[in-house]
Amino acid sequence: MKFQYFRDPDNFAYKMEKQAECSVCNKVGLWFDAGGFYGSNKIECICDKCFLAGKLIDLGIETNDTYHGSKEDRETISYKTPSLPTWQDRESVSYTHLTLPTICSV
Ligand SMILES: [Zn+2]
Repeated sequence: MKFQYFRDPDNFAYKMEKQAECSVCNKVGLWFDAGGFYGSNKIECICDKCFLAGKLIDLGIETNDTYHGSKEDRETISYKTPSLPTWQDRESVSYTHLTLPTICSV
């Protein structure tokens, strides 16, 4: 299984911590965590096969932003490429554990 724009997703993409059912085809395995994907529908995880087959297009779920390239390239990056980890992900993870100051509610 090869992703055109993501050379080593097994080591660098977000995967589920344990085996789970693919949210699309129900096959059990260690699949991509779809928690960080965005779109009108939400799924838990997706297997390599469904990912590469473009199943996210039908679901209206995107994995990456893209503004350049041909229509085909953009479709591949937006729907058929695992989310690329960025420094922003690390920031947002730490922020989710912060609580708002209580000063405002006095
Ligand atoms: Zn699947």
